[in-house]
Amino acid sequence: MAYHPTLGTWVQRDPAGYVDGSNVYQYVGSDPVGATDPMGLWDQNFEHPPMTEKAYDEAIAEKMYLLDNKRIVDIIVKANQRIDSVSTNFDNYPIHYNRKVGEDPAIAKREFHAFVAGRVDSVQFFSKRGGARLCKAALIALGEVTHAWQDFFSHAVLYTAGPTQAAPLWWAGRGGTPDNDYHLKPSSYPGEHPRGAEPAAADPAEVSARKEAAHSYVVDRYRYLLAEAWFGECWCYFRKKAD
Ligand SMILES: [Zn+2]
Repeated sequence: MAYHPTLGTWVQRDPAGYVDGSNVYQYVGSDPVGATDPMGLWDQNFEHPPMTEKAYDEAIAEKMYLLDNKRIVDIIVKANQRIDSVSTNFDNYPIHYNRKVGEDPAIAKREFHAFVAGRVDSVQFFSKRGGARLCKAALIALGEVTHAWQDFFSHAVLYTAGPTQAAPLWWAGRGGTPDNDYHLKPSSYPGEHPRGAEPAAADPAEVSARKEAAHSYVVDRYRYLLAEAWFGECWCYFRKKAD
């Protein structure tokens, strides 16, 4: 997410930042309060949806021929995107593995994990109950937790280093999943870095390492929550229409 001066809240980053190759770790010219989002790598509209679709395809591939995949993916993606919308994410930094200036990282982490655990519980509970409405509710909960998982890989930084780390430092035996964030803390909050002292430009190797890790993690969770738990009771409500 990115700070939006007019709306006065955090919204998705201007996609133009990708197109013209400007620094993806900064929000140039749009920042009235010295805000930076050094690790805001995934865009609500341009990054979260394809990442989610790719994970879905990979996780449920063998069963796809049975399902109305477009409908299922639409529900998951929309719920995912909604987490970055102005109305829902305001003041709710930890869902994005972010925190406010001065906020204890441990508290933000606790809120992140509580959100994730709650949504995972919902997916499992609703899937087990079955029925068209709850099976859809399970997909919505899955879309919301997918956003939090993906944002973890965008925003997590090491306690022991600056806000950006080279890929080898980030990935070399220091954990690096939502289930193992002992060495990591939420970053990407406004005001941490004084104007002019923002982190250096993105290392493309780190960006792709983070993206690949996010993908593997979500596929792994989808194999369990979607291809196993959800599929059992719910597939018949989302089956492919007979031609
Ligand atoms: Zn987000």
